[in-house]
Amino acid sequence: MLLPHSPLALKDLRTGTVNDPLRILVSGCIMGWPVTTDGTDAGLGGSLQALFALPNVVAVPFCPEDTGIGTPRGMPDIHGGDGFDVLDGRARVLDQHGNDLTEMMMYGASKMLEFALEQRVDVAVLTDMSAACGSQVISDGCRLVPDRTYQRGVGVATAMVLRAGIPVLSARDYKTLYAIMRRHNDALPHRDDLRDHHETDWYVSYFGDTSSST
Ligand code: SF4
Repeated sequence: MLLPHSPLALKDLRTGTVNDPLRILVSGCIMGWPVTTDGTDAGLGGSLQALFALPNVVAVPFCPEDTGIGTPRGMPDIHGGDGFDVLDGRARVLDQHGNDLTEMMMYGASKMLEFALEQRVDVAVLTDMSAACGSQVISDGCRLVPDRTYQRGVGVATAMVLRAGIPVLSARDYKTLYAIMRRHNDALPHRDDLRDHHETDWYVSYFGDTSSST
């Protein structure tokens, strides 16, 4: 099986400078915006603080669900596929009450892409597991059930951004994110203890080892 999308090839990513920083589209909640379904940042704010504190990197935050649906809102999840399937009309986005949010999710994703293109982003770092921003793993149907299950796949906004040619990383891709940081700060030491989301124990035990299938 192939991963939901190809891992980022770092050689293809330019290195930012102080005058022309690397421009990273980032999920608003990662920057502390109170835009998750309950109007908080779900504790994600500041999680990539070290990356965005670098003088040669700049954050370009956006929240597609807040733009498309508003905050607070029901819990969107994809039924019948992933974000690519939603774009192609094979899957729908429903909240926990069964309300169909597909068109609003598509609108929010399109505004995110429009913003990303306007801002000339080089890469995106998005919150995994989200029906909009997920990049490695999303819920398989509603997450607010006792027997929640997961699927390998991308959210609706991620699918749209990927189709436009913008590479996407999960905020849980710690190995690749650290490699990007090191490239932008020579003083950082080498680390071999970090892993990307698809290499974690949880991912491998749930989906199996997919590292050789990319
Ligand atoms: S849609 Fe994306 S940016 Fe908005 S709250 Fe969900 S994960 Fe964060």
